[in-house]
Amino acid sequence: MNIILLGPPGAGKGTLANKIKENKNAVQIATGDIFRYNISNETELGLRAKEYMDKGDLVPDELTVDLVWDAFDKIEKNNSQDNIVLFDGFPRTIDQASALDKGMEERGQQIDHVVYFDIDEEILIHRITGRRVCPNCGATFHIENNPPKLEGICDVCGTKLIQRNDDNEETVKNRIDIYKSQTSVLIDYYKDKGILISIDGANSPEEVFEEFCDKLGV
Ligand code: ADP
Ligand code: ADP
Ligand code: ZN
Repeated sequence: MNIILLGPPGAGKGTLANKIKENKNAVQIATGDIFRYNISNETELGLRAKEYMDKGDLVPDELTVDLVWDAFDKIEKNNSQDNIVLFDGFPRTIDQASALDKGMEERGQQIDHVVYFDIDEEILIHRITGRRVCPNCGATFHIENNPPKLEGICDVCGTKLIQRNDDNEETVKNRIDIYKSQTSVLIDYYKDKGILISIDGANSPEEVFEEFCDKLGV
């Protein structure tokens, strides 16, 4: 089953993806994580992506689409058919969505559901500026909503938590503007295809996960 998690930055896509992975047979393709992995390994792709990400701009489609298919084809090769594949942070433009449709068709597959996080903008800034992530294992915390047991230390692996370069108020505003101008059109795009499911992103992570399971029947 192929599922897109669609929503503005800070809506809780990564948090829901982690919960699904803990509880179901699921794998995640998170384009932001793939870019950050390339940045920390100083690859050519990483160097090129970094200049866009630091400003909160979108990385160009030609650097983004191929790496999604690399990840997807690797998953298909290694896993059985009954897996859930979660697209987290992709697609973010109409062109990316078209490329995704085309590539799925070529593979005899389809996007089954698009989970849209309905959430107010004021909540997003608070969520993103308070986000802390583990550079080692990828766990995500929030200084108020979901603090680690020991301040500044990852509960899972004990590594010192960091704040992402792009999680500052100025960049966040640009990311939200870009979401509105380029990504939010995908809500109607998938509504028209009849595969959009809305969930209330303002609820707690547990309630979001429950609503996801109920509405998708998984
Ligand atoms: P996204 O992947 O959509 O950018 P994240 O899942 O990383 O968002 O969440 C952004 C921040 O908000 C994180 O610090 C996370 O701990 C926190 N968060 C996520 N979901 C919720 C929620 N349902 N309620 C409160 N805080 C949340
Ligand atoms: P968030 O959910 O908080 O916006 P992500 O980790 O999904 O964070 O994305 C971080 C940054 O990576 C984005 O601001 C953008 O620069 C880049 N990025 C991630 N996914 C895409 C994509 N599908 N297309 C273009 N740029 C992307
Ligand atoms: Zn960790």
